[in-house]
Amino acid sequence: MKYAELANTGVLDQPVYEPGKPIETVAREFGLDPSCVAKLASNENPYGPSPKALLAGAKALNVAHLYPDGGCVNLCAKIAEIRGIDPEQVLVGNGSNELLELLGHAFLRPGLEVVMGAQAFIVYKLVTKMFGATPVEVAMPNFTHDLEKMAAAVTKRTRIVFVASPNNPTGMANSAADLVTFAKSLPDHVIFCLDEAYAEYLEAEPDMRTLINSGRKIVCLRTFSKIYGLGGLRIGYAYGSKELMDVLQRVRQPFNVNSVAQASAFAALEDSEFVEMCRSENAIGRKFLSDALNELGMRTYAGDANFVLTHVGDGVGVFKELQKRGIIVRPLGGYGLPEYIRITVGKPDENKRVLKELCSLKEESLVGINYE
Ligand SMILES: *Cc1c(COP(=O)(O)O)cnc(C)c1O
Repeated sequence: MKYAELANTGVLDQPVYEPGKPIETVAREFGLDPSCVAKLASNENPYGPSPKALLAGAKALNVAHLYPDGGCVNLCAKIAEIRGIDPEQVLVGNGSNELLELLGHAFLRPGLEVVMGAQAFIVYKLVTKMFGATPVEVAMPNFTHDLEKMAAAVTKRTRIVFVASPNNPTGMANSAADLVTFAKSLPDHVIFCLDEAYAEYLEAEPDMRTLINSGRKIVCLRTFSKIYGLGGLRIGYAYGSKELMDVLQRVRQPFNVNSVAQASAFAALEDSEFVEMCRSENAIGRKFLSDALNELGMRTYAGDANFVLTHVGDGVGVFKELQKRGIIVRPLGGYGLPEYIRITVGKPDENKRVLKELCSLKEESLVGINYE
């Protein structure tokens, strides 16, 4: 008997998540010097972790023989202070992806529906299917979550509605006011999960605290993988009502977040100067890239996060050609956007480099770049 035949229902129709290729793999494949490969594929922070986070993580390694604090007590207290909520309203996870999965463990099963945008973060669909629930995808005109249509897609069977704002891979955010109106419009049996992975890049962050404290079923997710530059450590958190956290606590592993990640994240939260520098450099780089690409004739959406979405015609073709030239971007076929690539905003020299290479691809007509 094959393992595949023994697998639980739903396992085999899980789409496979395609992560951005690691620098070493691309360097090996194309005979490049790894130090010359620019990874603009996974929306990581080109400035790395804050030096303070690095130091704190290194210090935590000295006691790596001890189990981590299973309750992330210090970090929860810090997060609570920053967000102006109680520590019991916070749950730290092994990346916000773990928190998405915990929501699935706690709330999803066959027969239930999950409403999400058609070009929303792919993990929403993966988690939904993992637990045998049904994804209900709502079209995203102009690559933005259509909150009215999403509210209209809610049925008696809906258990969770996911919105990422800004969304990945499209970059678009919904206004704070629209998100509040949307949250208020949802019935009581529906949990609204607002994924705020890129919220630190926004000029006006939505604030769900009043609604959460008034008893609305809302959970917000944050990550240390983006502006905090700690993607390799796998750490993020959820905040919402204490009652929700009590439920989620039951489905997590006792030591789900390692001690290096906890220490680094704590220090990262204290280094607001570093975060501010990353935010302003990102805004400059994003404008530079999107303006220049639009000028080149590639329709580009700057969005509100740390990446741009650009129409190149043959997404995989351009992805492959750029890879040969030592630049890793993300093709988006998996999101139903085969004509687009997503480019993470890098450091100024990296942004110039990707622009230069796209320019020469266009001149050489090497790939079916389709200009509009
Ligand atoms: C990158 C990203 C995350 C972060 O996931 P982690 O598991 O915390 O690394 C979450 N949501 C969205 C929309 C993202 O793009």
